[in-house]
Amino acid sequence: MMPQVRDSSASNAVPGCGPLIPPLSDALRPLRQQIFERVRAAGQIARVQVAKELGVSPASVTTGVSELIEAGLLEEVIAPREGDAGRGRPAVALGVRACAHRVAGMKLSDREHTAVIVDFAGNVIADEVVQRTPGAMSLPQLFQAMETLLDSVCAKAGIERTALTALGLGVPGFVDSGAGQVMWSSVMADRGVDLAALATAHLGLAVHIDNDANLVTLAELWFGAGRGLPDFAVVTIEHGVGMGVVVNHRIYRGAHGLGMELGHTKVQLDGALCRCGQRGCLEAYVADYALAREASTALNWVGKDGQSINVLLESLYDHAKAGNAAARSIFRRAGRYLAVGLSNVVNLFDPSLIILSGERMRYDYLYAADTLAEMENLAIATGRPRPPIEIHAWGDLLWAQGAAALALSAVTEGLLAGNRDGLREVAAQ
Ligand SMILES: [Zn+2]
Repeated sequence: MMPQVRDSSASNAVPGCGPLIPPLSDALRPLRQQIFERVRAAGQIARVQVAKELGVSPASVTTGVSELIEAGLLEEVIAPREGDAGRGRPAVALGVRACAHRVAGMKLSDREHTAVIVDFAGNVIADEVVQRTPGAMSLPQLFQAMETLLDSVCAKAGIERTALTALGLGVPGFVDSGAGQVMWSSVMADRGVDLAALATAHLGLAVHIDNDANLVTLAELWFGAGRGLPDFAVVTIEHGVGMGVVVNHRIYRGAHGLGMELGHTKVQLDGALCRCGQRGCLEAYVADYALAREASTALNWVGKDGQSINVLLESLYDHAKAGNAAARSIFRRAGRYLAVGLSNVVNLFDPSLIILSGERMRYDYLYAADTLAEMENLAIATGRPRPPIEIHAWGDLLWAQGAAALALSAVTEGLLAGNRDGLREVAAQ
């Protein structure tokens, strides 16, 4: 396809200048939503402090807060006053009304399915992990798995499924979160599935979906190391290689919600074959199936095709630890390719932090000193230090928590981003 050439002076026909941000969009949220999000982030905060932090008058905060309290989303809490020794009038602060809504977060993966239930303030009420046999599921199988998991985690939380306001669902693969569509996923037999709409109809519960790398990034942004950082990247290395990028405290998703596919950036022309059908993708050198492929060739592990990739990799890891040169070289090579990928992330985004997330086992080798040195050599020499790299070997429950954050933010968006009448309707319920 030929690139379109556009006369850039044509856009001058629009009056004014500066970015044309649509009203009440993600970049320009209504004041009451900003107030709510500020309170949720703070845990407890006084009205006057909210006004100060948002740069608006205390009167407009008071009005917004009254609406939010009336709608049952915020509540007044007694805040302990410092140095007061119990004397004087107790300070009144604001907090999220935790019981206002409950949502579920769920991650479906090749190895296990995980779920959490969180309240409106983000506290985890219950969690559940179910092991599974790997492989792509048909839609009925997928819904069955979701229902079983949902009922089980609800039972643990002591609530009915009907008590949930929404469900956030994470699957690996290419997911258009905004459109609710899964283009391709290793856990699904079908392609191009309107999963959010179908699951919503099937469960009778609003379902929001995203890919698992974005969800672990959301988890870091909402609950983890990324809470205070405006810009950071999370690179996930598991069955595939994924990435989530936060720009200005928000997840960057690209025009079609399909960006940040670090695993399919090319690191070698005409290189190794990738799961996506193309050649030379980073994933084809770093992901666990790539390591397993090398292992079965280099170590002549024929006849072990039936064994799970985990068993194969654990065995490879044990061999490497025991000093097997071939096994070590496989991890070393993967580490070098990872260094190429990470240096590209540094050169493109200049993030304040890179978090490596996924299973711990492989990191000992992938995150070796020479991998970092290689990354440093490949990143442009600015004289400034490279971003710190942290390893967060959290389990799948963190991903489910990210899915819950997705559901929470969708619920909040639905309640607060619309017009004022919407809030009134909620209050009347
Ligand atoms: Zn690929």
